[in-house]
Amino acid sequence: MQTMRVMLFEKPGQPLRHAELPVPLPGSGQVLLKVHACGVCHTDLHIIDGELGDSKLPLVLGHQIVGVVIRAGQGAKRFRIGERVGVPWLGATDGTCRYCGRGQENLCDHPTFTGYNVDGGFAEYTVADERFCFPLPATFTDVEAAPLLCAGLIGYRAYRMAGENIETLGIYGFGAAAHIVAQIAKHEGKQVYAFTRPGDTAAQEFALRRGADWAGDSTQAPPENLDAALIFAPVGQLVVEALKATNKGGVVVCGGIHMSDIPAFPYNLLWEERLIRSVANLTRRDGEEFLALAPQVPVRTDITTFPLEQAGEALEQLRTGQFVGAAVITIIPA
Ligand SMILES: [Zn+2]
Ligand SMILES: [Zn+2]
Repeated sequence: MQTMRVMLFEKPGQPLRHAELPVPLPGSGQVLLKVHACGVCHTDLHIIDGELGDSKLPLVLGHQIVGVVIRAGQGAKRFRIGERVGVPWLGATDGTCRYCGRGQENLCDHPTFTGYNVDGGFAEYTVADERFCFPLPATFTDVEAAPLLCAGLIGYRAYRMAGENIETLGIYGFGAAAHIVAQIAKHEGKQVYAFTRPGDTAAQEFALRRGADWAGDSTQAPPENLDAALIFAPVGQLVVEALKATNKGGVVVCGGIHMSDIPAFPYNLLWEERLIRSVANLTRRDGEEFLALAPQVPVRTDITTFPLEQAGEALEQLRTGQFVGAAVITIIPA
């Protein structure tokens, strides 16, 4: 039996462990991919910290996978052998629930999430449902494309939830998602204000380099009030800070899968038709729209790479904010 190197998550609180697993066989409608690169995401941290629960165990994390099709399962005909594809967080849906029927497959009652319910991309090989894979624009290298598949996609969905008629956009937490969204928002003519952890001048300089018109601490007031705010940092207090900075009728969009509790706040911060909403997962339509738009901007992704064996180190550096932009695991054949 052919085996592959993986980084395995066994239990919350334990570091990822290097392991050898059998190379999976593609099932009906699936493709087997040789993984070239896989992005690291805040959701991975929430999984290893046990904040989401219900994940497969042991588990291969990783849901921003760039790989090449090397084998097709029964009935899988969408991609040719050798074609490069991307695998996102939404790995499959039931296709039959009320949400799937309404075009809200991101809210499916029986979803499969890559690197959560099924093994993901911190591995030499993975299998994926071909219907949920995306062809990738040729202008992006493997490493550049990886963060587009969650940071980019979820960021894009969150940005679209901010609405069409906004002029000023605040972004709280300037990491992988934010650095992509800021470029799209500038491309569409918005004023972009970036908020970081207080005193994180490296992230503030990074935000300015990636097109933000202003960057400051999350406790500061922006130069102008916000028509919309996107929150990518998992800190509930930021919802209150963002509401304080938001114009009448404005929206505060929470882009993360998990957040610390939102403190109580006076009703007058919400009054005048301000909204708070979350964004969950993605639809394939989000992916198609975003991957068509990204080369036009063109989106540039800032990457720190780590070899497969250092996936745990990449996660810890993400937790403590030791790099700007996105981290990507690169899989170099043994
Ligand atoms: Zn993610
Ligand atoms: Zn469904």
